[in-house]
Amino acid sequence: MKNHIKLFIPGPVEVSPSTLQAFASPMIGHRSPEFQSLYREVQTGLQKLFQTQGPVFVSTSSAWGVMEAAIRNLVARRVLCCANGAFSDKWYDVALRCGKEAEKLSVPWGKPITPEQIEPYLQTGRFDALTLVHNETSTGLMNPLEEIAQLLKHYPEVSFLVDCVSSFSAVPTPFEQLGADVLLTGSQKALALPPGISLFAVSERALQKARSIPARGFYFDFLEFEANHRKSMTPSTPSISHFFALRHKLAEIFQEGLEARYERHRRNAELVRHWALSRGFELFPARGFESVTLTCIRNTRGIDVGAWIARLRERFGCVIDGGYGKIRGMTFRISHMGDETPQTIQNLLEGLDRALDELGG
Ligand SMILES: *Cc1c(COP(=O)(O)O)cnc(C)c1O
Repeated sequence: MKNHIKLFIPGPVEVSPSTLQAFASPMIGHRSPEFQSLYREVQTGLQKLFQTQGPVFVSTSSAWGVMEAAIRNLVARRVLCCANGAFSDKWYDVALRCGKEAEKLSVPWGKPITPEQIEPYLQTGRFDALTLVHNETSTGLMNPLEEIAQLLKHYPEVSFLVDCVSSFSAVPTPFEQLGADVLLTGSQKALALPPGISLFAVSERALQKARSIPARGFYFDFLEFEANHRKSMTPSTPSISHFFALRHKLAEIFQEGLEARYERHRRNAELVRHWALSRGFELFPARGFESVTLTCIRNTRGIDVGAWIARLRERFGCVIDGGYGKIRGMTFRISHMGDETPQTIQNLLEGLDRALDELGG
């Protein structure tokens, strides 16, 4: 691919030529037996990845579609939105825009949400749903999902809605073990697929609850997904290209092995963290809560990040991200998820060093 700039931004991430080739498969009808068998094949892999016996639905939308859907399908009374970054802040806004009662549990960006902070809210009995972003892509922070899941087990009336968009498949997120009600991800993060679909598991308890919730709409109605799932189909014409690409990706994932995949992501992360610290930077998230899929680095050296990234692109044909939302410029982010390996990450880091040298940094 001539002139292709390799992406080390936290989504969309680089998509491999073999995935793109699978994506470009000839079309089949979405009500055909060929599609049903493709659906079933993909379903088997997804259940393994989500670690669930229940259905995993595929939505032709970006992750926000399913994040909005989770609110529309499962909030009857009031939702508590755990917020410590741009994505989790926005989930609260989305709840309000859906006309739901919502309250925000705000924690400073870069600090984790803890069960101790959540519990007093749940004890009031005012909430029937909670949103949590596992991996805050804006700040490179991973919230303690397992600990929070343990707490939520004491509140079965509170639907537990979890965004694993940028952690899914890079760390274990076992749906049933966590006791989550919705666990969702997008295609363009660690799965390294083109953007355009989202994958999500919904608990049996949540499907039951959705039946009693009015105005779920059509496109994102969980019960439509469930009814069509029984026929190995989607409610409307899906991105069939994504199903081909997903089948290819799932085969790759199980060929590598899940443990090896998790380990590769850990090693990538360690390399980048070590590089950042050894170059005199600091990590943005609180210690011990650093993301495994991307590293958000504080620009403590006051570098002109825009110029640095432009040089990296020009000379080495790759890009990183110059920071998200209100911490743009103060921070920069390096993605190391998807198909990246310690070798490709090492190459990137060398490029970053050389680009900075050339700028006289
Ligand atoms: C990327 C991302 C989203 C949104 O994904 P879209 O595909 O743009 O809808 C939501 N949450 C997190 C944590 C993300 O990283």
